[in-house]
Amino acid sequence: MNTSSAIKLSPEEIVRFGDDPAAAFAQNMIAVQERIAAICHRCGRHPDEVRLLPVTKTIPANVLRHAYAAGITDFGENKLQEARDKLAMLDDLSIRWSIIGHLQTNKVKYLVRFASEFHALDSFRLAEELNRRLDALGRDLDVFVQVNTSGEESKYGLHPNDLMPFIERLPNYPRLKPRGLMTLAIFSADAERVRACFRLLRELRDRAVTIDPGLTKLSMGMSGDYEIAIEEGADVVRVGQAIFGPRPGADALYWPGLIPDPQSQEREETPR
Ligand SMILES: *Cc1c(COP(=O)(O)O)cnc(C)c1O
Repeated sequence: MNTSSAIKLSPEEIVRFGDDPAAAFAQNMIAVQERIAAICHRCGRHPDEVRLLPVTKTIPANVLRHAYAAGITDFGENKLQEARDKLAMLDDLSIRWSIIGHLQTNKVKYLVRFASEFHALDSFRLAEELNRRLDALGRDLDVFVQVNTSGEESKYGLHPNDLMPFIERLPNYPRLKPRGLMTLAIFSADAERVRACFRLLRELRDRAVTIDPGLTKLSMGMSGDYEIAIEEGADVVRVGQAIFGPRPGADALYWPGLIPDPQSQEREETPR
């Protein structure tokens, strides 16, 4: 039985999340789902086609107990260390963990133990190590291949030109179950530039499925741009701030690595 009111919040947490986070998160979930349904309706899609993946990064574990009490059981995390810390504190709950951000090869051994899916596959080195570690555990992993659709140096992901050769070699890693492509759009007030990123991913997906029929899904769209992403065909939207409220500090930005994050325990590799 989960009674969220019994989970203590610190004064700082009450400032950030209010004194009844479960109610607030539940209400925000409904609002986002209603908006997704409205967008789908407008562009002739069925709302069930779009999966809402709540992004829980920077939300403390005890606050996530309130989220869980509100019925949120899929958690998307972009940093492996943070996900591991939370897993250790929440191991009595049945959470489905999605790792959505860039992963260093030396963290693969942790990911394979608990993650249900990985959205940021972008190198053979990572594919090799994931496959090896998964095979040792006798398990498979759903993966999305990350593509850099904005051309920004700061973003991870394969260059669009490198995608098809990459996909052709994925059968070498049989423990990886390719589900689709993932991207982060450019951070811009110009909706057409954002849309161009999502459209490019869709076009790449349409070619990718001819090589690997499993690569059907598009993981794209965040709090600030999921409306455009759904219009362009998103199957999974990764939404944090619209559910859990604004993130303070450098984490307010959508992507890790753009601005050095002083709280980060992890040293990121330089994106190629
Ligand atoms: C943080 C993050 C999101 C969600 O961003 P919000 O602004 O909180 O909706 C989505 N995808 C990735 C990879 C992220 O790191």
